[in-house]
Amino acid sequence: MMGTVEHATLTCHRCGRETRHELAYAGRLLVVTTCTRCGNGIGRDVRRRYLADLRQRVASKPGRMLRRFRRHPVGFTTSLPRTTVLKPWELVEEMRLVWSAAAGTRGRETGGCRGDRH
Ligand SMILES: [Zn+2]
Repeated sequence: MMGTVEHATLTCHRCGRETRHELAYAGRLLVVTTCTRCGNGIGRDVRRRYLADLRQRVASKPGRMLRRFRRHPVGFTTSLPRTTVLKPWELVEEMRLVWSAAAGTRGRETGGCRGDRH
């Protein structure tokens, strides 16, 4: 539900040793790394990079394709390679992930500045 999730063995600072981690991606960017042993999650603020990346992904689609999509949504999506299809609901999930991770990093860095979260 939260973008693309992959697994890797990384060193967890809380566990003090190598553990299995869950890596949550938004598009091609790694957003959150979560230790599956202790649940310690480390978020990264990738909002600027994500938006730049998103602009590139959207820009690679000509407007003609978009018009065709509006007329024949089903036929259009099945006729394209999976990686080039940007589904609206996936986008929403990605953005939610990116923004919540960014809010988490800001909270930690400022020592929990209340009321500063948008
Ligand atoms: Zn851990």
